Amino acid sequence: MTYFKNIAVARQAITDKHGQQKPQLTFCAEMSCPICKAGTLSYQISAVNGHIAAECSTSDCVKWME
Ligand SMILES: [Zn+2]
Repeated sequence: MTYFKNIAVARQAITDKHGQQKPQLTFCAEMSCPICKAGTLSYQISAVNGHIAAECSTSDCVKWME
């Protein structure tokens, strides 16, 4: 279940940075990936429902859509 744990950790890193509240406008941002430490984690947070979609630039690292 490491994969799902990695997603939880990556998601936590995003919400630690931006907060739990959904944004006023849907936006995209990037951070250095907290999982592989090598790739770039690109993510989008929806203004509609606060859902997060994210993908690491490392092919076998985290990727999810809510
Ligand atoms: Zn990564």
